[in-house]
Parts: sequence; structure tokens; C-alpha cells
Amino acid sequence: MSIVANIQEIEEQIKGKGVTLIAVSKTKPVEMLMEAYEAGFKCFGENYVQELIEKQDKMPKDIEWHFIGHLQSNKVKYIAPFVSLIHSVDSFRLLQEINKQAAKNNRVIDCLLQIYIAEEDTKSGMTEDECLEILQSEVLKNLTNISIKGLMGMSTFTDDENQVRKEFRKLKTFHASLLTSYPYLTTISMGMSGDYAIAIEEGSTMIRVGSKIFGNRSVQTGSIQTGSI
Ligand SMILES: *Cc1c(COP(=O)(O)O)cnc(C)c1O
Repeated sequence: MSIVANIQEIEEQIKGKGVTLIAVSKTKPVEMLMEAYEAGFKCFGENYVQELIEKQDKMPKDIEWHFIGHLQSNKVKYIAPFVSLIHSVDSFRLLQEINKQAAKNNRVIDCLLQIYIAEEDTKSGMTEDECLEILQSEVLKNLTNISIKGLMGMSTFTDDENQVRKEFRKLKTFHASLLTSYPYLTTISMGMSGDYAIAIEEGSTMIRVGSKIFGNRSVQTGSIQTGSI
């Protein structure tokens, strides 16, 4: 199937469910993203700063770029001028750096706090306690150039659907517990190619789908990621 047909199929599945689709285009060439763009699709997710800035430079400026990978503080400045939503905020320090760079660009950058829900230590994110600490912090009130929109989580990479469901449910439960005090946390970014159906059943409002749209990523470390930044 074509990229456009794949997107249409997923859009059909999520119709009326209050779920936004982000097409995860990491390691894929601009030509493939342009196929989606030319069919009217404008929300792309990228994991690597160097790759994102190269694509952003080459592609139309009305694209919504989502940063979903691990973000190092010293690289925030490269994406701050244009990034639409950073899903992967995993520390207060990073949030403060995003605020600083957003201020330099006269912008408010939307962010999600990434919560660690998986049973593998390869997945990054903060604990629920760390998240609460940030939300309750007095310092947060001074960060006027960021806006926390919700939470993000990644499940364990496993065929065990019950495990995945349990992890998504944990994130949703935590999210629900925050809503009374923090009603502005409207987004839950959870679900990828293999598990977005479960994620939506468990309350996801944003899914990040890569291989089901663009095909498998056979090589994870293409030259595009090894630039100077
Ligand atoms: C790569 C990636 C995705 C997409 O993964 P697929 O399994 O290809 O859909 C989603 N979220 C994050 C954080 C990723 O790194």
C-alpha cells in the first residue's frame, strides 16, 4: 500500500475518537514525507535533531513538526524556532532550557511530560513523582514560554498485549488523577504502529505511527543522523 493509503486507513480507524495522528518519519527521506504532505497531511514526528532541522529546512513551512525522541538540552536551540510540540520532556532542566530558547524566539513551545511506564530501562521518561514535582513547582509559574499540554508514554516492546494495556492504563490513570488540579493537561500521547489500537482503547488522544505508514526502518543509524549537530 502507498503512504497516503496507509495514512487514510489509520485516519479512518481513529475518526470520531478525538485522536490525532502523528506520522513518525524518522530515517525516511523527504520525498516520502512529501507524498503525505501533497495529499494534505501535515503532522510529522522526528527523533533526531539533525535530521529534523534538515527536513524542516527543505520542506514547506506549514508543517507541524513534533519532536518525539530523547532531547539533549544543548540541542534545544536548533529546534526552538519552529517545533510545534515536544513529546519527550523528561526533566525539569530540559523544560527550563526549552523555556529559555522559546523566549529567545518569542514563542511559547508546547510540551508533554514523558512518563516512564515500561518495564525496560531502555525507555526514558520521568517517574510520576518527578512529574508531580514539576507540576507543583513554584518555578514553573515563571516559565511563561512553555506550555505543558499533557503526558507521553511508551510501552514495553513486547507481544504481550496485556502488559502493554496495563502500562497504557497506568498512564491514563495517572493522567486522570492530575486533571482536577491541572485541567490544561488535555493530551495523552501513547500508541505506536504495533499498539495504537490498544492505546486508543485505553484513552490515548495522540498516536505516533511510523512503520505502519512509511514501512519498516531496516537501518536505524543512517547517515542522515550523523551530522554535525
Ligand atoms: C519510532 C518511534 C515511534 C514510531 O514507531 P513505529 O513502531 O514505527 O510506529 C513512536 N514514538 C517514538 C517515541 C518513537 O521513537
